[in-house]
Amino acid sequence: MHHVPRNTITPTTPCPCGLDATYGDCCGAFHEGAKQAPTAERLMRSRYSAFAVGDTAYLLRTWHSTTRPPSLDLDPTVRWTGLEILATSAGTAFHQEGTVEFRAHCVVRGHEDAQHELSRFVRENGAWVYVDAV
Ligand SMILES: [Zn+2]
Repeated sequence: MHHVPRNTITPTTPCPCGLDATYGDCCGAFHEGAKQAPTAERLMRSRYSAFAVGDTAYLLRTWHSTTRPPSLDLDPTVRWTGLEILATSAGTAFHQEGTVEFRAHCVVRGHEDAQHELSRFVRENGAWVYVDAV
């Protein structure tokens, strides 16, 4: 079977989410549990990065308890290559819910593809979590 290598992401390489910061200072701090995403957009970015680094535990714990799947298997043939935030509504430190519209780029078996989604987020026990796609 052909092995598909992941992007090599370390604490000192650029964060996969596209912000101008290293992975360790950006989404990596959320994945480690050292910090909580302060806005719905930052949570969305950190979940994209979790897909890129294969952190299924983070994806599950940032999923709302009512919509979270029992387990998650990431498709190893998908390599995530970039994130575009297209629009956001609410989702700041002053809100309890918000939406983020994004386009996530990937390469699947050598072919470029993209996923476009409008995601809903709410706070659960104070922390931003993903609910579902609108
Ligand atoms: Zn990041």
